[in-house]
Amino acid sequence: MKEAAWSFVPRRIEAASSSAYPPKRGGPMSITNKQKKAFARWMQEHNVRSACPACGSESGWNMHESILGGLDLDLKNKQAKPSSFGCFGLVCKECQYTMLFAAAPILGK
Ligand SMILES: [Zn+2]
Repeated sequence: MKEAAWSFVPRRIEAASSSAYPPKRGGPMSITNKQKKAFARWMQEHNVRSACPACGSESGWNMHESILGGLDLDLKNKQAKPSSFGCFGLVCKECQYTMLFAAAPILGK
């Protein structure tokens, strides 16, 4: 069976007012060794596969140096606010595919 080719049409996608970004907040805090260890242990305990789901590479992952925050979007009012949701971000060393894991449950917060 022939795999379908990826096809994208680049376009401007507006989800929020641009004036609401970036949110005002303090500088990022680097992930501590303790947090890194807790994350690695979690990955092992939950049998998270280390092969990249996008390219199948086993060449490993780069970890973003801080917990990634997001924006909670209020689409109706076109506003964005800093979100309390935070993630660990892993980026495939081969294809740059990115996996996100919710940080709070992993850190027991
Ligand atoms: Zn990959």
